[in-house]
Amino acid sequence: MGRALAIVRGVALLGLSPREVRVEATSSPGLPVLRLVGLPDAAVREAGDRVRAAITRHGLRWPGERLVVNLAPADLPKVGSAFDLPLAVAVLAATGQVPVEVAAGCWACGELGLDGSVRPVAGQLPLVAGAGQLGAQRLLVPAAAAAEAALVSGPELLPVADLGEVVELLTGRRRPRHVAPLTVRSTAPGPDLAELRGQPLARRAVELAAVGGHHLLLSGPPGCGKSMLADRLPGILPELSTDQALEVAALHSVASLRSPDQPLERRPPLRAPQQVVSAAALVGGGSGVPRPGEVSLAHHGVLVLDELLEIPRPVLDALRQPLERGEVVLTRSRARVSYPARVLLVAATNPCPCGFLGDPRRSCTCRPDRVERYRARLSGPLLDRLDLQVSLRPLDHRDLLDAPTGEPSAVVADRVAAARQLATERSGPGALNRDAPTPQLRRRTDASALTGLAGALQRVGGSARAFDRTLRVARTIADLAGDEIIRGAHVEEAVAYRLPAIRGAA
Ligand SMILES: [Zn+2]
Repeated sequence: MGRALAIVRGVALLGLSPREVRVEATSSPGLPVLRLVGLPDAAVREAGDRVRAAITRHGLRWPGERLVVNLAPADLPKVGSAFDLPLAVAVLAATGQVPVEVAAGCWACGELGLDGSVRPVAGQLPLVAGAGQLGAQRLLVPAAAAAEAALVSGPELLPVADLGEVVELLTGRRRPRHVAPLTVRSTAPGPDLAELRGQPLARRAVELAAVGGHHLLLSGPPGCGKSMLADRLPGILPELSTDQALEVAALHSVASLRSPDQPLERRPPLRAPQQVVSAAALVGGGSGVPRPGEVSLAHHGVLVLDELLEIPRPVLDALRQPLERGEVVLTRSRARVSYPARVLLVAATNPCPCGFLGDPRRSCTCRPDRVERYRARLSGPLLDRLDLQVSLRPLDHRDLLDAPTGEPSAVVADRVAAARQLATERSGPGALNRDAPTPQLRRRTDASALTGLAGALQRVGGSARAFDRTLRVARTIADLAGDEIIRGAHVEEAVAYRLPAIRGAA
């Protein structure tokens, strides 16, 4: 038999960034063993066994010779089982069961079952998108993930359910199936703001957060509506564009939180981890190639951190860089990986360890020094980034009877969209006031409002950074009022949200 060098291409992911991997197979005289070289991890090393079982199971031929498969470039870490499929195709080509020149024009990513079935892997969507970005012309994908793959423009898709189909397609005995792309689901109605009574100040802050992307701190006793408000925030945010929805789905795919047959969601994601115990869970990590954390799973959406002060300080500190840069950068010995992390952070906290400080229904049992220590846990720099801080007081029975029904989410969402449009006109699509450049902000601020802001911040001990951050909130308030100029009243309201809720509650 021939000693052809067979080449198929696969994809390795560093975060969401794809890298081309050449899977090269060749056979030579010797014992019929498969040797894998090129920095494979344990899962890739086991691929040899899976590929062998799958090939023989399908009545295909395993060579009676020594096989060497190289994954190049060697310095790139290859993890997981997505290399099963390119490996199998390379072996089939090296042994003359599919034409070498056809295999050479193909990319492939997918896992093999021992029965020869081809299955999607974690990260299937970004792998497919990555192959497209790297210029793949023809791409073998698991049939179960074909509709999802069809959302990605670029390569001609060759969906395969098992190795038998791979051979039939690549030898021209079968034509590729037509694939209809997955539907993109418009937002189904979620929990509505109309269900929340009272709390006008907190409702206002949530609306401002939705318009400007400002991070929010809600402080108040249990049961006052903090999580109700946070849960309703995605419902007043604009729907995701298809590209944004694909990006979110890609991150969820890497974390195995989505299956490839799920429709693409236009609703911004909401992540509310119950117990954030480690920095790795929050910002990403793990051995090998690091996985995305909650802050990336909430990309383009809302990250809710309940009981903020119960979260260990080093974990909270890990959040600062992603909040500032909109991405997480994780460095490992073999790889530097980044994941996007543009989130709206909603932090919630009790006002004191027992939770009832300021609650008319029950009295607080905490000693003052314990309350002080509790609050000191919130680091200055993180507190500085929470631009909208609100104390909620629980409603008593009479309040509940008197409080009007809240405005429905749809009405608020319309106002949010209109106000966001103004930021788009100033700074381009997707621009948020949270990131508005300082010169632009100051140019459109009334001179006396600027002086007023400086004085007000001095009184509350705000930092220099707080000046621009407060002005950005004022920009959002002006946008909601339809005012092109930031005026004194806008600044005053913005300053009121910076008075730390957690201290102001006392
Ligand atoms: Zn207390």
